[in-house]
Amino acid sequence: MTEHAVVIAGGGPTGLMLAGELALGGVDVAIVERRPDQNLPGLRAGGLHARTIEVLDQRGIAERFLSEGQAAQVAGLSMVRLDISDFPTRHPYGLGLRQKHIERILAGWVGELAVTLYRGREVSGFVQDDTHVDVELADGGSLRAEYLVGCDGGRSLVRKRAGIEFPGWDATTSSLIAEVEMAEEPELGIRRDALGVHALGREEYEIRDGEVVYADRGPVGVMVTEEHVGATGKPTLRDLSEALVAVYGTDFGAHSPTFISRFTDLTRQAAAYRRGRVLLAGDAAHVHAPDGGQGLNLGVQDAVNLGWKLAQVVSGTSPDSLLDTYQAERHPVAARVLRTTMASVALRRSDDRTKALRDTVAELLGMDEPRTRFAGMMSGLDIHYDLGDGHPLLGRRMPDLDLVTADGVVRAYALLHDAGAVLVFLGEPLACDTSPWADRVSAVDAEYDGEWELPVLGHVAAPAAVLIRPDGYVAWVGEGTDAGLRDALTTWFGSR
Ligand SMILES: Cc1cc2nc3c(=O)[nH]c(=O)nc-3n(C[C@H](O)[C@H](O)[C@H](O)COP(=O)(O)OP(=O)(O)OC[C@H]3O[C@@H](n4cnc5c(N)ncnc54)[C@H](O)[C@@H]3O)c2cc1C
Repeated sequence: MTEHAVVIAGGGPTGLMLAGELALGGVDVAIVERRPDQNLPGLRAGGLHARTIEVLDQRGIAERFLSEGQAAQVAGLSMVRLDISDFPTRHPYGLGLRQKHIERILAGWVGELAVTLYRGREVSGFVQDDTHVDVELADGGSLRAEYLVGCDGGRSLVRKRAGIEFPGWDATTSSLIAEVEMAEEPELGIRRDALGVHALGREEYEIRDGEVVYADRGPVGVMVTEEHVGATGKPTLRDLSEALVAVYGTDFGAHSPTFISRFTDLTRQAAAYRRGRVLLAGDAAHVHAPDGGQGLNLGVQDAVNLGWKLAQVVSGTSPDSLLDTYQAERHPVAARVLRTTMASVALRRSDDRTKALRDTVAELLGMDEPRTRFAGMMSGLDIHYDLGDGHPLLGRRMPDLDLVTADGVVRAYALLHDAGAVLVFLGEPLACDTSPWADRVSAVDAEYDGEWELPVLGHVAAPAAVLIRPDGYVAWVGEGTDAGLRDALTTWFGSR
């Protein structure tokens, strides 16, 4: 039986990112992906939020995405745009870039790394014991792994077979999404009526002065809310046509669909992100309405949180209890997204009272403090893992500062390109002997005279040293002494 240290079920955005992270961590990793190639029929995510761009920057690949997309203020809540252009980040914006391009670029990166890809093959089951997982494939093949990660989307077979509960809320709205040709000139843009929110737009667009300007011709992307919730089965052109007529009074002569699918506001989250040697990430662990454009971002960041931890467990550097911190850190982040998407769906309703509530929320979000707070949340820049009390940097993202080192000016994120941990000394050398961790944590002496400013929180006291995890979050802050450093190194990077 072919063996890999880690098998990932599903090569969507989450599975690809995780595979890249594991490969950088030196792990023998394989993806099993049902699709024969990376081609993604259908419109899904429309772009990236600021923290995801930063995370890609930490691996030196952000430019690949930025060069193909359109930077814009994309953070928003309940149709209220939340401007982050004053946030202290190199990327105070989001990126308009369709999921098919995001996946293509990610797959290109993964292709440069030592990742085995089994395309056109499907995970059909698995059996785990104390030492390994035997992964069954639908074509009768099988693979043996130390760990299996289900990145197999919202209907995750891995989650179901692991017996992990998926509690949450049933759908209250249902929408058709499609790409079609239209014989008549459609009414492009967003429309709101008694049924809900609908949108028509061309596949090709530009963002000018913050506004989407669609191409004059080309296929039309349709998002139309259905009258009833609960339809099952594959939607047809006739279903789409009827839904368009119900809203616009015409179907604009829709024909030649390249795809038609349905999405709802079904909202659920896995009760556990791990069962034994089986873990979940991305949509396999959480599903919610697309409002706010959060899903792909959550999945990519799940992968970056899990990747280095799993790599250390596989290499024997850390005990497998390190994997429990994955759920402890990422479950609350997704739970918060579930809450905001549910609020957004509720605020989408068209009755007068909901409209009054929407106007009230918009007024509140127009004030600076609420705008900053919610923009921090929707952009992912405010994420705070609970690593205990202490300096405000603890558990928050390291800012991408220009550090002055013996080799010249180095961006903090450039130190993370190899997905290793970094201990940056910004003042006097510390007494603590960090040499036992030298193979896992690189030590850098640097100077930085500028301000330390965090999104939402503002200015914080300059630290004398910071221990940065491979995912870019600060695991320890030195404030003149090395108190707690040895414990932090042991907790995150093992004791050997
Ligand atoms: C209409 C719509 C709009 C959206 N807009 C946004 C947005 O603006 N921003 C945003 O961040 N997110 C958005 N999302 C959500 C986003 O598309 C998902 O969150 C994202 O695709 C999740 O990535 P994933 O890799 O976890 O899962 P998926 O993308 O679902 O990938 C799962 C992969 O696993 C494969 N697979 C499944 N089962 C198996 C199996 N048994 N064996 C092998 N392979 C398998 C599938 O073929 C697929 O490639 C939107 C979603 C929808 C529906």
